[in-house]
Order: sequence, then structure tokens, then C-alpha cells
Amino acid sequence: MAVHLVCFLLFVAIPFSNILRFDIPRQRFHFLGHELWISEFGILFFTLMFLMFLIVVISMLYGRFFCGYLCPQMIFSEASIRVEQRAGKLVNRWFGKSTPTVRKLLSRGGFYAVAGLASVFLAFVFISYFVEPRDLFRRLLSFDLRTAGGISGAAVTLITFLDFTLVRQRFCTTVCPYGYLQGMLADGNTLLVQYRDANRDCIECKKCVRVCHMGIDIRTSPYQIECIHCGECIDACVDVLGRLGKEGLIHYAWGEAGELLTNRSGAWYRRAGLRDPKRVVIMLVLLFYAAGLFTALSMRHTVLVRLTPDRSVLYRVADDGRILNRFRLNVANRSSRAATVALSAENLPGARLELKHNPLSLQPGEQTQEEFEISVDRFGGAGEVNHFRLHAHASPDGTEDTFDLTFLMPPEESSR
Ligand code: SF4
Ligand code: SF4
Repeated sequence: MAVHLVCFLLFVAIPFSNILRFDIPRQRFHFLGHELWISEFGILFFTLMFLMFLIVVISMLYGRFFCGYLCPQMIFSEASIRVEQRAGKLVNRWFGKSTPTVRKLLSRGGFYAVAGLASVFLAFVFISYFVEPRDLFRRLLSFDLRTAGGISGAAVTLITFLDFTLVRQRFCTTVCPYGYLQGMLADGNTLLVQYRDANRDCIECKKCVRVCHMGIDIRTSPYQIECIHCGECIDACVDVLGRLGKEGLIHYAWGEAGELLTNRSGAWYRRAGLRDPKRVVIMLVLLFYAAGLFTALSMRHTVLVRLTPDRSVLYRVADDGRILNRFRLNVANRSSRAATVALSAENLPGARLELKHNPLSLQPGEQTQEEFEISVDRFGGAGEVNHFRLHAHASPDGTEDTFDLTFLMPPEESSR
């Protein structure tokens, strides 16, 4: 219950804190506070691959740990069952003298009201993983049912409501592909839920079957696709047999023939799940992958500057004799803070950057493209092709981009 509460709070907090969000309208991917643009395909691909690899590693080592403890679908399905049961109990207590039909109507009505409100809230959180939450809130307040965003919000709310009231854990065994994927990834050292009864202590109370929301009997096999490794049957059996002074018969175990999770003897890495060379290698690859990803993210420039010469006209000579070359500037502020970009030239004596604004200010997420000229008076030693450097200093992230460019001038006699 405590784990489910923590996971629920994380599920709600993640899109609002930009830990993970795929902002579809703005085509941005938020990951650990970094705002990746769709144009940054390499790092985006690398991040998605890392997340997939992480899921594969967790599945291989710890089985369906995600399904049993972290999956929002599972948490909300179990919560809706509890709310339904609670509504029934409250109605029986407060309206005990009413007819069964009235009590049933009242408990169903109460449950649907709570499920309806919860569906609006959870659909809002779910869509916040794909749409900026403030924008979404504005649409919700205006009951937007005309735009694509508003219609999809209403559709997700309806689906969430039906999921809570009708589908629940059936989703896991019919629609969700993760259970089948887990079946392919598990091997003889993967954590699973297993029934072991060497001393024939089972009293056939079937409490383990009754508490199982997936409706299975774990005693028949630990490899049932429906089993999400939630451990409810473990607690149920411990509860029943504990009263008889015996230990429970259902356990978390490292594979069918492996040790129990509760076994505290043995090396720490074996108890952590690193039980064979394959797992050690996979964990090393994951760490290597994570280090590469975090290095790439930390080296990423949040303010992107692109500078290219415009050679449709090689150069222009102004009335006052100054020589001008044209350049194209693209700047994108990929951060969540306002930024400025200051340009300066090096190795081009007397150069004047004919920009409307220098430094250039950009709001978060803003990108701009403009053309500008650099003008110089012919200086001593200048040739037809003059190599120079242009620096773009971005604040507040303090990064500097350097561009090696050429400045073209007419032959000396023709400029006189
Ligand atoms: S709860 Fe334990 S004792 Fe009861 S049927 Fe299940 S395994 Fe047997
Ligand atoms: S068999 Fe046990 S661990 Fe598996 S889903 Fe049912 S209650 Fe959860």
C-alpha cells in the first residue's frame, strides 16, 4: 500500500516536474529536466533506447516487479476495487434499513461518482505526459470539446472511467504486451512468485486464490502469464498458516530452483539479483549506457546557434566604401529560461556586425532566423579571401560556439 502510494505520487509529479514528458503539440521530449527538441534525433533516440533497455534489464532480473508495484494501471485497478468495497460497506452501515435494491443503487452511485472524479483527474495527469499541463488545464476549464486536444481529453477520461469500472486487471491479460515480453525475458534466475510445500502443510483454505485479483491459483505453476508478482497471495498464506504457527508456502524466489528472496545468506550481489555472468554483463552495459547518456545530456548546448554564409552575392560595396558580406543566423533557445546570444568577430579588424540586436534575446522555447551583414573597411594585409572567426556566447548557460568563416573582398584595384 505504501509502495503504491509513493508510485501514485511519482506518477502525478513526473509530468509536472518535467522528469519525463513527450510534449506532442510542441514536439519536445522532456527527460530529467532536459528539454530535447525533435530535431535532436540522436540524443532522443539514445534516451528512448536507454529507457527500453532499462525495462528489459529490470524484467530479466526482477520479473514482473513493475507490474506488481509500479504500474499505474495496476495501482488504480486495485484502488477502484477498494473504493467499490468501501462504498458498499458505508452504504450498509448508514442505510442498513433500506431495501437491498436501494442499497445497491446507492453504493453503485457513490462508487461511480468517485470513479468519475478520479477519472477526470487521472486522465488529466495521463495527458500531461503528452501536453503541457497549464495548456491542458486551460482547455479543461473551458470545457473544450471541439479541438483535437479537447476531444482526446474527453476520450481518455471515458476510457479511464470504463477501465476502473469494467476492465481493471483484465487489461493485463488481454491488451498489455508486457506480460508476454516478460515471458520471453525470464530465465532460471529471474525473481518469481512460487508455491513450495515439501512437507505438505497446505490446508487447502484457498485464501491465496481468493485474494488474487488476477483470479489464478499460484499453486498450479509459477509461470502463469496472469501472475503479476504482486505478492498478495504470499501475505494471505502467511496470515493463515501463521495462526497455526507455520511459515507461509508461497514465496518470492530466484527462479524455480533458486533461493528464496528472504534468504539473507550469500554474497550481496547475488541477493541483489546478479546471479550469473550474463546479468553482470547486462548490468555493466546498462551502466555504460547510462554514463554515455548523461555525458551527452550534460554536454548538450541548450542554446543552439547555427551560422552560415549567404553566397548568393559574394560581397557588396557600400557608398561609403565599406565592404559587406551576408550571413544567415539560426538561434534556438531549447531551455526553460530566457537566454541571450552575443556575437563577436575575431581576426577581422574593424568588423561591424549589422544586427538589429546584439546580444539577441530569446524567450524559453523561442527560435529565430535572420540574415545580417558584416561590414569592414579594407584593412592592411586584407586579401580577396580573409579567414576569420565568429564567436557566439550564450547566457546564462555560458556556452560558446565558434564558427570559422571567410570574408570575401573585391580585388584591390576594382574596389578603388
Ligand atoms: S493460502 Fe496457503 S494454506 Fe491456504 S490454500 Fe493457499 S497455499 Fe494452501
Ligand atoms: S498469484 Fe499471487 S502474486 Fe500472482 S497475481 Fe495472484 S496474488 Fe499476485
